[in-house]
Amino acid sequence: MRLPFDGLRVIGGKWSPQSYGVKEFLSRNHVPYQWIDIDQDAPMRELVSSLSGSVTRLPVVLFPDGSHLVAPTNLALADKVGLRTRADQPFYDLVIVGGGPAGLANAVYGASEGLRTLLIEHNAPGGQAGTSSRIENYLGFPAGISGADLAQRATAQARRFGVEMLTAQEVVGLRRDDPFRIVRLANGAEISCYAILVAAGMAVRMLGVAGVAPLIGAGIYYGAATTEAAIYRGRDVCVVGGANSAGQGALFFTRYARRVIMLVRDKSLASSMSQYLVNRIAAASNIEVLTRIEVTEACGNGHLEQVVLRDLDTSEPRRIDVAAMFIFIGAAPRSEMVSGVVECDEKGFILTGPDLFQSGRKPRGWTLDRDPFLFETSTPGVFAAGDVRAGSNRRVASAVGEGSAAIYTIHRYLETV
Ligand SMILES: Cc1cc2nc3c(=O)[nH]c(=O)nc-3n(C[C@H](O)[C@H](O)[C@H](O)COP(=O)(O)OP(=O)(O)OC[C@H]3O[C@@H](n4cnc5c(N)ncnc54)[C@H](O)[C@@H]3O)c2cc1C
Repeated sequence: MRLPFDGLRVIGGKWSPQSYGVKEFLSRNHVPYQWIDIDQDAPMRELVSSLSGSVTRLPVVLFPDGSHLVAPTNLALADKVGLRTRADQPFYDLVIVGGGPAGLANAVYGASEGLRTLLIEHNAPGGQAGTSSRIENYLGFPAGISGADLAQRATAQARRFGVEMLTAQEVVGLRRDDPFRIVRLANGAEISCYAILVAAGMAVRMLGVAGVAPLIGAGIYYGAATTEAAIYRGRDVCVVGGANSAGQGALFFTRYARRVIMLVRDKSLASSMSQYLVNRIAAASNIEVLTRIEVTEACGNGHLEQVVLRDLDTSEPRRIDVAAMFIFIGAAPRSEMVSGVVECDEKGFILTGPDLFQSGRKPRGWTLDRDPFLFETSTPGVFAAGDVRAGSNRRVASAVGEGSAAIYTIHRYLETV
């Protein structure tokens, strides 16, 4: 029996990728909702059919004011639930692209030191760290902290200092119109400021094997997908990858799944995972680690049922029955919005400060007498911090440290404007 509930309701299907996307967006933005699976609730199934015209257009989101949205975009959903999606002011001292640890730290320091600060986040504050089930090596949290909790605390702190935060808005480009810097959003809107910090982090790398793409959100997920964990209670699931994020994910799923199978290309976990996680995994009775193995295909009718593997030493194929596959195979920098505007290395990481002096020469197009400041890119007034920056060491603490330290050089730059 469902208890009476007068908040926001998401009515969808367990195997509907769009339903998963909506749940993930709401929960990462800390918007409470009640989930209703149409396969378990005949009257709701009829309601969905009448509202959306078909039970395949999912999910239907019902709002307490009696209105509804069918298969909404993140932007439409953000607007409707009252998340800020449009800038209040025509001009800011500082615009931050990305609300991960680097962007949030920069926002806290910027606003607390009197800068009119706008942070623009494509998805939800917290970034990659916000998707971690438990961060155990961040200073000050001896028992660890979930990424969601850390993100919520940082967001509250930034708001308390007066940071304006836009959610579900993507920055697609930036340009220079001296002394101003201008960011362009995907909806065509432009926002002006004196300085920009690019803290866009990394995006997950896709697993390019047969059968994966159609089953994303229907048993296959990138990252820990904590909203979905309970669906797999008592089932067998697999985790692809052998780095720390995969280890954390595997340990998290041991709380729900009957068995967690880790699929690792290396000879052992120790080559790319911190020892404390390796020890924890070895001690977990329901984790099985398969090494020197790769995924070659995902199979299932409407949702994941089987994964085909290949032994990297013998080339022997093998099938495993799993209800879910969680993929943690690394990430690539999200620097596409600065393409052609600032210099990046061959992998797309943004070059800053001393790294811009290749063979002792100033960066191309640099006309100022001074050298670029620390964290400054090849375009004066545009800074970069965190995982997207060449040379960063891709940890929460480093991102927070870089975001915080970059404020010092942003102040120095503002004195020159
Ligand atoms: C599952 C997982 C577990 C991890 N666990 C740990 C751990 O235990 N300890 C540790 O130290 N590190 C951990 N890490 C690494 C750590 O999370 C990252 O190093 C850190 O989040 C980097 O912060 P960042 O702010 O540079 O970038 P990100 O966290 O990547 O944040 C960037 C943000 O920018 C947004 N964005 C990107 N492009 C745009 C755009 N064009 N417009 C607007 N917004 C945009 C993104 O949506 C994102 O929210 C983990 C990573 C993952 C994925």
